[in-house]
Amino acid sequence: MYQDYANFKNGCVMELSVLQEEFMKLYQINSYEHWFYDHDIGAFHFKSDNGRDLYFKYIDVGSFSTKRNTWMWSWDNKSTPKQVAKGLEKVKAYGEENNFNELSRGLVENGDEYTGWEFTAITAKLLNAIGAYRIQQEHLFIYFIFTNELTQEQYDELKDKYVGCESHGTGRIAFVCQHLLEGSNLGFHEVFDSNPLIEPENDYQAWCDKCEKAWERERAWTENFKAFTDLKIVCDQCYFDIKRRS
Ligand SMILES: [Zn+2]
Ligand SMILES: [Zn+2]
Repeated sequence: MYQDYANFKNGCVMELSVLQEEFMKLYQINSYEHWFYDHDIGAFHFKSDNGRDLYFKYIDVGSFSTKRNTWMWSWDNKSTPKQVAKGLEKVKAYGEENNFNELSRGLVENGDEYTGWEFTAITAKLLNAIGAYRIQQEHLFIYFIFTNELTQEQYDELKDKYVGCESHGTGRIAFVCQHLLEGSNLGFHEVFDSNPLIEPENDYQAWCDKCEKAWERERAWTENFKAFTDLKIVCDQCYFDIKRRS
């Protein structure tokens, strides 16, 4: 026997409205004048004019177009990086198990002003959100759920040490010379020996044979050397891919 979709949806909407009221009150969300979100690290930032900051880890649920009255799940949206849609595969799988097509199709047509909140409510329920938020960008409403609060320290650490990667989601920040980024068999000289199983104290950094030669000549971060090496930021998984092919 399948559950009834309308029942399930309405239950989720009721739960979210209770949760949301508590969330808005607990964190005094309306007392913050500004918000920002950072897709690289999946962190949402509320900022007040009197210097208060509040951070949450988020999942980008999807967007509703008031022009076309369509809903698009963010896992189906090419402009949304993978790392902020992570978790939604559970919602999709739930839709497939229960024959709730609207949860498993990327694009849902014939929506109305409630559509976005309904899908957000379902997602909030299935992924144990602590709250939700909607922002408007031109004709799009974009919906987020928050999974946990981040302290200032956690936020700073994410900002400093993590980077968004199109292929791997959010990863540790690492640096390679401009030559290693594209080439292969160019040599691989690391500042310290990296091991994918050990969380490093410092950021991974490597350059190629030519850069190593230049370094031996200059022994300093001269303008020349900087321009030649031109370190690029990559995620740690990309770093190890590059290491394998070097
Ligand atoms: Zn190089
Ligand atoms: Zn990567």
